[in-house]
Amino acid sequence: MIKLGLNNEAGIYIHIPFCKQACNYCNFHFSTSLSYRERMVTCLIKELEIQKDFLKGKLIRSIYFGGGTPSVLNKEEVALILATIYQFYTIKLDVEITLEANPDDIDNDVLSAWYNGGVNRLSVGIQSIHDEELIWMNRAHSHIESVKTMEAIQSSLFSNYSLDLIFGSSLSSESRWMEGLQWVIAQNPNHISCYNLTVEPGTALFHQVKSGKSTSPDMGLSEKLFKTTHEFLTDHGYDHYEISSYGKPGFESVHNTGYWFNIPYLGIGPGAHSYKNGNRYWNITNNASYMTDIQKGEVPLTKEVLGIHDQFNEALMLGFRTKWGVAKTSVESFESKGIRYDKKSLKSWIEEGYIIDGKTHFILSMKGTLIADKISASLFAEE
Ligand code: SF4
Repeated sequence: MIKLGLNNEAGIYIHIPFCKQACNYCNFHFSTSLSYRERMVTCLIKELEIQKDFLKGKLIRSIYFGGGTPSVLNKEEVALILATIYQFYTIKLDVEITLEANPDDIDNDVLSAWYNGGVNRLSVGIQSIHDEELIWMNRAHSHIESVKTMEAIQSSLFSNYSLDLIFGSSLSSESRWMEGLQWVIAQNPNHISCYNLTVEPGTALFHQVKSGKSTSPDMGLSEKLFKTTHEFLTDHGYDHYEISSYGKPGFESVHNTGYWFNIPYLGIGPGAHSYKNGNRYWNITNNASYMTDIQKGEVPLTKEVLGIHDQFNEALMLGFRTKWGVAKTSVESFESKGIRYDKKSLKSWIEEGYIIDGKTHFILSMKGTLIADKISASLFAEE
C-alpha cells in the first residue's frame, strides 16, 4: 500500500554536487573537484537554516540525499546535515531517510555510521554487473566492488535498500541484461530501479555518438528489455509502480511518490528544485555562485508560478508515469476551471489499447508506457 501521507506532509531533498568521475551518460549537476566539499557542506547547512520556514507547519515524511554522489561525503558530514534538519524541521517518526551511494564508497564502518545517524534506506548505483559495461559508462566502480558492497550491506542493520540498473548501453544484450537482473534479485532488495539509457545533449556520450565513437541505444532492444524486465520482476514479486521503479509491496519510494502526488518539498543545494502551493523554485546550478550567495545569507533561487495549463500538463505527465494513472476527478476539476484538451485523441488512445479507461483513473497499458511522453504531449491543454 502506498504511503501517500496527509495534507500537512512534505519532503526534503539535499543535492550533493560532487562525483569522483563523470559517467558518460550523465547530465545531472555535479563537479569532479572535491576540494571545496567542506565549504559546500557548510553552505548546505546554512541553507537549511535560512529556508526553515519554507515548510512551516509541515511534517517531514522523507529526506533524500541525492546528487551527484552523496556517499563522497564523510560520515560526520552526513550526520551534521541530518542533525541540522532535525534542529529546524518537524520530522515524522517513521520518516524515510534515503542516501544514494556508489559501491566504491561503501564499507562496514560507513554503513554503521549512516545507520546510527538516522539513514534508513540506501539507493545503490550498481548500474551493471559487467565490467566492460561499467568501463564503457565510465563508472568509478567495478563489479567486484558491487559484490563486496552487497556483502557489507547484508551484514549491516540496513534492511531497506534499492539497487539501480541501466539498460540500453552499446554493450547491452538480452543475455547480459538477464544476468544483471538475476544477480540483483539474488541480493533481495526491497526496491529496484531500471533506467533506460538515453543520450542527453552535453554529455560525454552525446559527443561519442556524434563523433561515431559510440552508437546510439538500439530502441528495439531497449523496448524488448523494458518488457522483459517488467515480466521478470513482476514474476518475482516486485510491483512495477512507475516507469523505472519496482518495489516489493509497501516499499515504494516515499520520497519519489511525493513528487508524483504533488506533495511539497524543499530542495537544498546547487541546482536543487522545490515545490509548494503550485509554485516551483530552483537554486542556481553553479557551485561557486551558490556558495557565495548562501554565505551572504541569500538563497539564489528562481521562482515559477505554474499556470492552470502547466498544472494540467504536469498532472498528465506525472500521473501517466505511474501505475495509478490520472484520476478522472482531477481531469474533471481542471475542465471545470476552463481547461480544454484533445478528447478525440484520448478516445483513440483508449480504442487502440494504449490507455486503459478504468473506473476512476486513466492508466497507461504496457504498450502505452513505452510512449508515455508522446501520449501525455498529445493531450496537453489547448491554450
Ligand atoms: S555518479 Fe551519478 S551523478 Fe555522478 S556522474 Fe555518475 S550517474 Fe552522474
